[in-house]
Amino acid sequence: MNVVVAGAGIAGLACAQELSAAGVRVRVVERGRVVGGRLASKRYADRYADIGAAYFVADDPGFRAVAEGWRARGLARPWTDTFQVFPGEPVAGTERWAAGNGLRSLAEDLATGLDVRLETPLTAIPEDADAVVLAMPGPQALRLDPPDAVAEAAKGQRWEPVIAAVLAYPERVWGELHGAFVNDHPVLATVCDDGDRRGDGAPVLVAHSTAELARRHLDDPAQAGPVLAAAVGELLGIKEEPEINTHRWTFAQPAGGETRPFVRDGRVWLAGDAFGKPRVQTAWLSGRAVARALLEQAG
Ligand SMILES: Cc1cc2nc3c(=O)[nH]c(=O)nc-3n(C[C@H](O)[C@H](O)[C@H](O)COP(=O)(O)OP(=O)(O)OC[C@H]3O[C@@H](n4cnc5c(N)ncnc54)[C@H](O)[C@@H]3O)c2cc1C
Repeated sequence: MNVVVAGAGIAGLACAQELSAAGVRVRVVERGRVVGGRLASKRYADRYADIGAAYFVADDPGFRAVAEGWRARGLARPWTDTFQVFPGEPVAGTERWAAGNGLRSLAEDLATGLDVRLETPLTAIPEDADAVVLAMPGPQALRLDPPDAVAEAAKGQRWEPVIAAVLAYPERVWGELHGAFVNDHPVLATVCDDGDRRGDGAPVLVAHSTAELARRHLDDPAQAGPVLAAAVGELLGIKEEPEINTHRWTFAQPAGGETRPFVRDGRVWLAGDAFGKPRVQTAWLSGRAVARALLEQAG
C-alpha cells in the first residue's frame, strides 16, 4: 500500500507513524516550512514561544501512553491542573501538559524517521496513491476538490479565527498565573504564562483573542497586538509596555459536534481535530483512527 498524508500537524503525523510502524510506505507532504501545524512554537529574538495550542490534555489511554513516553524522555511534563478564570475563582481539575522546548518539539519527535517533505503543498489529489489522507481543517481540504462525502463533511465544519499575541515584558511583574480563561471579554479569550509552562521563567505571556477581534483584524493582525496587550495589562494590573508579536490563525478552532473519528470517500480520507472536541488529543486520535482503518482494510 502506498499512502500520501497531506499535513504534518499532529493528526497527519500520528497517522503516518502508525502506518509506518506497520510497514506501510507513507509520504507526508506539508505546505509549511516546519512540522506541527497548530502545535506551533515560533522563535522571537532568542526564544521560542507557544503560539498555537496552549497545552494538551492526555486523558485517552492511547494518547496518554504517548505523553508518558515524552515525559520519560524529558520532552513533555504535566504543567498545571489549575487555571484562573476571569471573572471568578481559579478552577482545578484538568491536568494540562506542556513541553520545555515548545509544543512543536513534540511534532518533531513524532516526525522522526518519517518521510516528510516540507514546503510541499498538495495542490490536487494524487492519482498514484492507494490512499490520500487530508489531515487538515476542512476549508483547506476543500481547496483540493475532494470527492463528495469528504467535501460534504468539510463544508459542514465551522471554524473560528484567533489572533495570538506574544507579549515579552522587561521582567516578571505578575504573580502566580499559569494561565487564565477570560469569559465574556470583547477581545481576550485566554492568557498563558509562557515562561511558566516552558519552565524557563521568561517574562512572556501569550494572549489569544476572541474570534470577534480576530475577524476584525484578519487582514492586519499586528493591529490587534496593542489591543490584546492593553486587555492583558488591565486584567493582570501590569503597567509595563511589552514587546508585541502577533500571529494569525484563520482556521484556529472548529465548532466541534462531529462524532465520527474521520470521513472517507473511496481512497480519500479527512482527519483532524474537527472530529471531536477541538484538541491536540482529538487530532492525534483521528489520525491514528484513519491509519488503523487503512490497515484493517489492507488485511
Ligand atoms: C490559538 C490556538 C489555541 C489552541 N489551544 C489548544 C489547547 O490549549 N489545547 C489543545 O488541546 N488544543 C488547542 N488548540 C487546538 C490544537 O492546536 C489542534 O487541535 C491541533 O493542533 C490540530 O492538529 P491537526 O493535525 O488536526 O491540524 P493542523 O495542526 O492544522 O495541521 C494541518 C497541517 O496541514 C497543512 N496543510 C494544509 N493544507 C495543506 C496542503 N494543501 N498541502 C500540504 N499541507 C497542508 C498545514 O500547514 C498544517 O501543518 C489550539 C489551536 C489554536 C490555533
